[in-house]
Amino acid sequence: MAIQVTKSSMPDFEEYINEIKDLWDTHWLTNMGAKHKIFESQLLNYLKTNNITLFANGHLALECSIAALELTGEVITTPFTFASTTHAIVRNGLKPVFCDINPIDYTIDVDKIEGLINEKTSAILPVHVYGNVCDVEAIETIAKKHNLKVIYDAAHSFGVKVNGKGIGTFGDASMFSFHATKVFNTIEGGAITYNNPSLREILNDLKNFGITGPENVEYVGGNAKMNEFQAAMGICNLRHIDVEIEKRKKVVERYISNLEEVKGIKLPKEQKGVKSNYAYLPAVFDGYEKNRDEVFKKLKENDILARKYFYPIVSNYACYKDVYDEENTPVAKDIANRVLTLPLYADLSLDEVDKICHIILRSKC
Ligand SMILES: *Cc1c(COP(=O)(O)O)cnc(C)c1O
Repeated sequence: MAIQVTKSSMPDFEEYINEIKDLWDTHWLTNMGAKHKIFESQLLNYLKTNNITLFANGHLALECSIAALELTGEVITTPFTFASTTHAIVRNGLKPVFCDINPIDYTIDVDKIEGLINEKTSAILPVHVYGNVCDVEAIETIAKKHNLKVIYDAAHSFGVKVNGKGIGTFGDASMFSFHATKVFNTIEGGAITYNNPSLREILNDLKNFGITGPENVEYVGGNAKMNEFQAAMGICNLRHIDVEIEKRKKVVERYISNLEEVKGIKLPKEQKGVKSNYAYLPAVFDGYEKNRDEVFKKLKENDILARKYFYPIVSNYACYKDVYDEENTPVAKDIANRVLTLPLYADLSLDEVDKICHIILRSKC
């Protein structure tokens, strides 16, 4: 059977059925029901953040957080990310300005941010890509100096901690995704965590059509509510998340011990003070005997589906390429051409990891 790049974590069938049983008594299926309430408070505790608001998915959470913080003009972000990050800026009527990434952990290059700031800049929207933590201190210093807001795309960072602090406590707000393919899932789902509690009301209104009372609609909101079946999935998956992350760790360690001595394959490194969630295994092929596309093809011939994540970079998408030039972000361009995320999920066996590594290492294409 084919090995996919990821496989969604699911609770036992019985556990989920048990969790949703009372919905047949209450007939309360969405609109901030009992499961939603319980799940929200459990997450607040697990993520070690000050405030949290749940959403139907991560993307709408990000769109709503940009609206709630009333950003204007230009937002500095990186093109080495998923479509969602940039689209959320554009769909709010704002202009993304692409900053390059650093070649160490592929997050925003903090030395290149200030050169992109002008009078129109209202915020920085960096991505904790692959669960790697951005240089949050440098970003905070720059934001303070120029009076900018900071929203982190933390879609990859569920459960990550920095010196014991939840990743969602940095900046003004952070977006988490609970999509089926992420470390932790609610089928589809997402959340915004934030430090200023006064954002709570506006975020809750924006996800529910801007309705502020039975006869009051104050904002042009959308519909981005998490339903009870999603919340129930979250409650179940949260019971097992620590075990899941521990299993991922073993898989990552096996990849690293198999591949770390190989010349020309760059693997993720631990970040100081960071408790990782082992979300992805990006391997960068630079000076290896096969290039990225050859490794990808070789794996595919063996029914192993790695992913060119992220390729192409966002600024090369058909919808953006006429406005942006990849040459302005040379590191992002280069990494996108060399990176392959290898299959990684909690139930991937170590034998399967060995097999994948063996195929990569078998000399000659
Ligand atoms: C998954 C993802 C999103 C969007 O999250 P959804 O829950 O799928 O809407 C945004 N940014 C990044 C970097 C992602 O990987």
